[in-house]
Amino acid sequence: MKLNNNYRDLKESYLFTDIGRRVAAFQEEHKDVKIIRMGIGDVTLPICRSAVEAMKKASAEMGEAEHFRGYGPEQGYPFLKEKIRDYYAERGVKLKENEIFISDGAKSDLGNILDLFSEDNVVAVPDPVYPVYVDTNIMAGRKIEYLDATAKNGFLPAPDKTIGADLIYICSPNNPTGAAYTREQLAAWVEYALVHDAVILFDAAYEAFVSEDHVARSIYEIEGARECAIEFCSFSKTAGFTGVRCGYTIVPEELEEGGLSLNKMWLRRQTTKFNGVSYIVQRGAEAVFSESGRKEILDNINYYRKNAEVISSTLKDLNIYHTGGKNSPYIWMQCPNGMDSWDFFDRLLKIAGVVGTPGLGFGKNGEGFFRLTAFNTHENTAEAMERLKKLIG
Ligand code: PLP
Repeated sequence: MKLNNNYRDLKESYLFTDIGRRVAAFQEEHKDVKIIRMGIGDVTLPICRSAVEAMKKASAEMGEAEHFRGYGPEQGYPFLKEKIRDYYAERGVKLKENEIFISDGAKSDLGNILDLFSEDNVVAVPDPVYPVYVDTNIMAGRKIEYLDATAKNGFLPAPDKTIGADLIYICSPNNPTGAAYTREQLAAWVEYALVHDAVILFDAAYEAFVSEDHVARSIYEIEGARECAIEFCSFSKTAGFTGVRCGYTIVPEELEEGGLSLNKMWLRRQTTKFNGVSYIVQRGAEAVFSESGRKEILDNINYYRKNAEVISSTLKDLNIYHTGGKNSPYIWMQCPNGMDSWDFFDRLLKIAGVVGTPGLGFGKNGEGFFRLTAFNTHENTAEAMERLKKLIG
């Protein structure tokens, strides 16, 4: 028996463990302090009424002989795929139903998609970014090239001659920086991928937070993207499904290499290794697209957007460089007075009782930065900002 030795190359994932440990130790010593958590990457508002009702109804159906359903199609029920197709069509993006694959979330698909690509591909990953892209490729032993995302390029790296990658990850709106590519900026990546025979893996998990017209919500808004891009999306942040689990991946028919269709390969992969998402969950996801569902999820997103505005305007008043928040629930701020990200974490916790996420946890370029999230209540967000003002102002 031989193990996958690539696992030896993974860095221990200390970030959230470390945060948890430091917060617990502080709380133990200061039981009277009300700690406000502004580091959470999880939603806090409950699932919208329309989705809850649809899931209740679907649960009841499963107990009725005439409505019971066993195994469903591995790639998802047509009733949900049609809704996703129509959602994209509203933005002028035409998809075929067989190009949409329903899954239990974007994280699984982002990892599983690598089954389609040989291990000797070089991958380009922005730094800082959602750590899953790096770790899944280390597990497969692939060479990683980092794309520097810094204040200089607005945290949105552009293609250049130095990049020699076959697979390119783009996360827009970005976790952790909140930066989001305009259509024009994305067009440069699509052109690069087409010329270099590369595939873009586009993570649109936060597309529902986009508020600016010039920002793309889907890579397929860009001409040529159907020939070079796979898109991942999720109901997690759009509709609070982080605990329910549902997402989807789009693999256009045009994607092919040496006579092999990536769409057919993904279908083969999914039908072999995956047995589909629960019928109940898919009915819940379908209801997100109903008239009432859309209104309800927008209300929730607007609730978080208000928090992002409060954080942003506080940082502006304090003259602290920051980005994000407009098209994303994340605000990426520079640590004050040149502090490193863990020093600022400790200061913010010990003096203000506020928890955020040190930027270093998302890559080396995250050093000196800090992620605050809009996923708390209005009251806690306002209180946390008052404490921040006292600490820095
Ligand atoms: N992609 C990004 C950029 C994320 O930040 C997250 C979760 O935080 C995911 C994907 C995972 O989404 P899901 O809950 O659908 O697995």
